[in-house]
Amino acid sequence: MVNINDTTLMTERYDLHCHSTASDGALSPTALVQRAHQNGVTTLALTDHDTTMGLAEARACADTLDIRLINGIELSASWQNKCLHIIGLGIDPNYAPLANATQQLQATRLERAAKIAEKLEKKRIMGAFEAVKKAAGEGMITRSHFADFLLSQFHVSTQQEAFDRYLGKGKPAYVNAVWAEMAVAIDWITEAGGVAVLAHPLRYNLTANWIKRLLAAFKDAGGQGIEVVTGRNNPDEIKLITGYANRFELAGSVGSDFHNPTNPWLELGRLAPLPDSVQPVWELLKFQTSTVLKTVEV
Ligand code: AMP
Ligand code: MN
Ligand code: MN
Ligand code: MN
Repeated sequence: MVNINDTTLMTERYDLHCHSTASDGALSPTALVQRAHQNGVTTLALTDHDTTMGLAEARACADTLDIRLINGIELSASWQNKCLHIIGLGIDPNYAPLANATQQLQATRLERAAKIAEKLEKKRIMGAFEAVKKAAGEGMITRSHFADFLLSQFHVSTQQEAFDRYLGKGKPAYVNAVWAEMAVAIDWITEAGGVAVLAHPLRYNLTANWIKRLLAAFKDAGGQGIEVVTGRNNPDEIKLITGYANRFELAGSVGSDFHNPTNPWLELGRLAPLPDSVQPVWELLKFQTSTVLKTVEV
């Protein structure tokens, strides 16, 4: 019996950050995995906001295709009163503290949605709560659902405008949700067998000094990775984050943050390569799929 690790046999393409209908993605977990596979992705992590609900369906599909699926999540967390996103890769979704946390987060998100809808009503925009509940279905309600609602009712003409005018921080329908502390979120991930990765480090509007403070605290709390390559980063940004990864000895992740096929400039698996100086985060992962190690009789 010989184990052939198929990483040596084909060109690898990783995408370790994307969303399905279990949160604010447009595609079902099945359609997402199929699209990733069509795009040549060989290892995909499904990382829905605060939920692992889409993983079972994604795995059922991945098992029929030649693609590795990593169990993932994108946890909302708070640090110094800022909202951050922590990606968990390789988690056991059945680990009780994590499963309990996601259940609690669903309630938190439902309560926040009711408050956002109330604020919209004060702006004479009615019916948002029912609409976002219907749109999210069993999945997590996010501000993206509100943005879609505002678009569909012609209150705004782009998603971005919905955030700029209503949903963003400091805007009339903004509600400050209470998320777990960053260190707690990292513990949920690592105790569930996963690797904690700081998502899109340049999207928090932090100065370089604040980013360094954040990365020191993140590392101190047990964080192991940083998203170096995302779907939106240009070469200068990748260089900047590479510097942070090296300085704080964090492994590098790559992820498109794909949400919707209607967005032409952001596609599953369409990512710049991870710079050589950064340790790939997948070297830290225990792969969970049956397709990872192909056992061949000789
Ligand atoms: P939530 O976690 O419910 O606060 O929603 C956050 C989600 O809204 C993010 O994951 C993005 O998908 C989306 N989002 C946040 N800010 C913007 C923005 N300025 N424009 C478009 N989408 C955004
Ligand atoms: Mn999102
Ligand atoms: Mn995010
Ligand atoms: Mn995301």
